[in-house]
Amino acid sequence: MAESTGSGAAQADFDVAVLSDAGTERPDNEDACGYFIESPQAALFMVADGIGGYEGGEIASRMAVDLTIEAYRESPPAWGAAKRLQRAVQRANIEIHNRAIVVPELRRMGTTLIAAVVEGGRLSAAHVGDSRLYLARGGCLSQITKDHTAVAERVRMGLMSAARARNHPERSMLSRSLGRELIVSVDRLSMPLVQGDRVLLCSDGLYNVLEDGEIEHLLRPGDAAAICKALIETANARGSGDNLTVAVFIMHGATPFAADVAGTGWREWLGRIFGRRR
Ligand code: CA
Repeated sequence: MAESTGSGAAQADFDVAVLSDAGTERPDNEDACGYFIESPQAALFMVADGIGGYEGGEIASRMAVDLTIEAYRESPPAWGAAKRLQRAVQRANIEIHNRAIVVPELRRMGTTLIAAVVEGGRLSAAHVGDSRLYLARGGCLSQITKDHTAVAERVRMGLMSAARARNHPERSMLSRSLGRELIVSVDRLSMPLVQGDRVLLCSDGLYNVLEDGEIEHLLRPGDAAAICKALIETANARGSGDNLTVAVFIMHGATPFAADVAGTGWREWLGRIFGRRR
């Protein structure tokens, strides 16, 4: 049963929805998700996957989502979306870290966070951990974030095959997370969207049981809320031993960037921006 859900912005340039589910084998849900619609042209949405015994994971992921949204809302729009998001995530990190220091039961807590803002057709994202941001465009699904795990780093260095990494027992061990250190290194991403783009944020509980082709297929029909539900139901039908969380954003309106990136060259363009191709 879904434990966290929401969707909105039917009158806006976009459609956004989030959904979290404990999965089929776990009693608790240590994932969290949320979104904030600032205007008909601007939305913030995010997914967090908590770690750390006792209730730590649940608290860390909830804090990451709530504090990031709160800090973003309170920051001056004049800073621009990317700076507002970066500052908000750093503030959330410090507060989670401080809480972990003063509460002994929570000292091992931490969380992933993938948070994205789309404003005026431009996507800005902040990322720590192994939750992911995918872009579906023109029938192709691209993983935009890189996983902050020791296993993923070994794959990037050519020391391990992607196939071996997929089933590696330590594949979920994070090399970076929110709340563990006072200062965290946050990956920043920025890219223009075009009309029809679909952005997916998800925890590893989803991508560990669904193939890229299946995810791309599920991102096609329906509104954002229906897509969230379909992704989680399909993953649960496989029997998911982990919590599952998704956020889906659909760019319905035309954006100023359509002429720049439309056509067949966009994957090469994406490769230049992020230094690699998928
Ligand atoms: Ca997980």
